[in-house]
Amino acid sequence: MKKVIFLIALVAFSACKNDNKKTGTSSDGEENVVNVYTHRHYAADQVLFKQFEETTRIKVNVINASADELIQKMSIEGAQSPADVLITVDAGRLTRAKDQNLLQPIESDILNRIIAPHLKDPENYWFGLTKRARIIAYAKNRVDSSDLSTYEDLASDKWKGRILIRSSENIYNQSLLASLIVNNGEDEARKWTESIVENMARSPKGNDRDQVKAVVGGEGDIAIVNTYYIGNMLNSENPEEVKAAEAVGIFFPNQNGRGAHINVSGAGVARYAPNKENAIKFIEFLISKQAQEVFANSNYEYPVNPIVKPAPLLQQWGEFKEDSLTLSKLGEFNKKAVLIFDEAGWK
Ligand code: FE
Repeated sequence: MKKVIFLIALVAFSACKNDNKKTGTSSDGEENVVNVYTHRHYAADQVLFKQFEETTRIKVNVINASADELIQKMSIEGAQSPADVLITVDAGRLTRAKDQNLLQPIESDILNRIIAPHLKDPENYWFGLTKRARIIAYAKNRVDSSDLSTYEDLASDKWKGRILIRSSENIYNQSLLASLIVNNGEDEARKWTESIVENMARSPKGNDRDQVKAVVGGEGDIAIVNTYYIGNMLNSENPEEVKAAEAVGIFFPNQNGRGAHINVSGAGVARYAPNKENAIKFIEFLISKQAQEVFANSNYEYPVNPIVKPAPLLQQWGEFKEDSLTLSKLGEFNKKAVLIFDEAGWK
């Protein structure tokens, strides 16, 4: 119920925004705005959007909501949607937006040149903005890092009752399993899933941060989490989070093979974008050196622009090999992953 009210409020809000679009007019009387639907709500983003407005004279209208709410809102609005750009997380979810006909392909030499091919949609419906790895956070006082190796190895008996990981409803886990299906085949992926369920320290609950806290609380010995959560916890104002993150080591799996599983937050131009050219300029700006530096230092994610270095904390963790699997595959195998999770009884 709460969600429905929220969506109605959002639609009403964007209707107001539609009227306001006319305020951002250029000298020739054309409206000069870009309407951005984003799940990101960092103060740093606001600074960035101001910079974009100052250099381009294009006004940025931001609508914040959770990723799934934004996608739902766009599909309710249909051809009337004021959305120009959708920014959201996970290639699985970006592919879902593409499959639901909410995005359109674009041509941009800048985006094609800077963003590695595996970090974008092969048909240019969406482009990665920042990267994150799904890694193993282990209890430094109970796990010898030399016992860790691959995602596949987590299925072995030695991890019985020791693994902490969130629910399979979460897109991050669906994408991780999709990567295992693509890399190892469906049968192997199914066996892996069943073994992980066997090896769980507890029935899945909470988010990635909660898994790290549970390691420190002694409920399990290793947690599978996204890198930026560790970065954010280490820099948290909550001393409990800092303490939890300090007690775990970071391990990048599969370094002698295909590399650690990664994912992106990304952006695409909306199917009915009223300001398509501005939308393209906006996404090009988001992968510029200037913008990527802001992203890199605001949420502890890895930049997609290779000339920009990650935050100092991430540099301390060292370089790692990433799985170069084309991320759009994660969307392609999402349904299969969800099915395998259900069959294996992964809550
Ligand atoms: Fe997240």
